[in-house]
Amino acid sequence: MQHEKTARILSLIRCPLCKTGLDRKDDRLVCSVCGENFEVVNDVPVMLLPDVRKQVSDLLNMETGAEMVDEYNSGSSMLYNLLRPPEVHFNAGIDLSGPGGDRFYGPGALVLNLGGGPMRFREQEITLNIGLFPNVDIVADAHDVPLPDASFDTVICNAVLEHVFDPHRVVSEIYRLLKPGGQVYAEVPFMWFYHGYPSDFWRFTRDGFKRLMGEFNHVEIGVTQGPTGALLQQFVMYIIFFLGLNKRVTVRKFTSFVLRWLIFPFKYLDLWLNRRSDAHMLAGGFYIVGRKGD
Ligand SMILES: [Zn+2]
Repeated sequence: MQHEKTARILSLIRCPLCKTGLDRKDDRLVCSVCGENFEVVNDVPVMLLPDVRKQVSDLLNMETGAEMVDEYNSGSSMLYNLLRPPEVHFNAGIDLSGPGGDRFYGPGALVLNLGGGPMRFREQEITLNIGLFPNVDIVADAHDVPLPDASFDTVICNAVLEHVFDPHRVVSEIYRLLKPGGQVYAEVPFMWFYHGYPSDFWRFTRDGFKRLMGEFNHVEIGVTQGPTGALLQQFVMYIIFFLGLNKRVTVRKFTSFVLRWLIFPFKYLDLWLNRRSDAHMLAGGFYIVGRKGD
């Protein structure tokens, strides 16, 4: 199964410069046009060109970047996801790993999770990220994805666009990668604190997000975390900041965990507040489902 997936990925992969197929030579992929070659580490192609590799290593060497790498490699985010208080999400019916996500993962559908890893929603996904983290299938730059036009049925881009240098370019890549009629599912933050994974560059209003995704036929746009959820998260981060715990990773994470359990029942207020048309003004973030026109 894994072998089949690897073979499929290697058959899709392209030279990021020449957009042509690559030849496998031992543990490397070689472009016969430009001569550039790329490592394959444990079946994962590492498709970073030298200048991008430098940018990535600078990002991962930042304080927040190093923290992210530790978190990804230790699996602590998986543990946290098991133990954390319930999320009150409003992208009703879009639980990507549950039945709500079925419409994005039809049988045999080719699904790209841009920014996926260290977690994936389903085995079926091909995940792409900037480093060799757990559950990453391709290491590459989302601004210049080394995969062919019109090759995917679905692209998932979950809380990634705030972390890239140029969200417009990444969205153009998503559009290019989708087959006609293919779907994108994307989430972005609005009223949400700085989180360096490995850095954090942008926030999106509802209108800005709609415009960013303007090439797609908008099927659906909505709030992920409501005004109360956003306010409570801000409160938790304020307490951590007030106590000076931002740089003490373990204590910070523990404090955040305890506080979030204490306050989570208030988030259910959003079940009521989110029905209002102006809830977007204070929302924590948005999701969009878009379709590439035929
Ligand atoms: Zn090339």
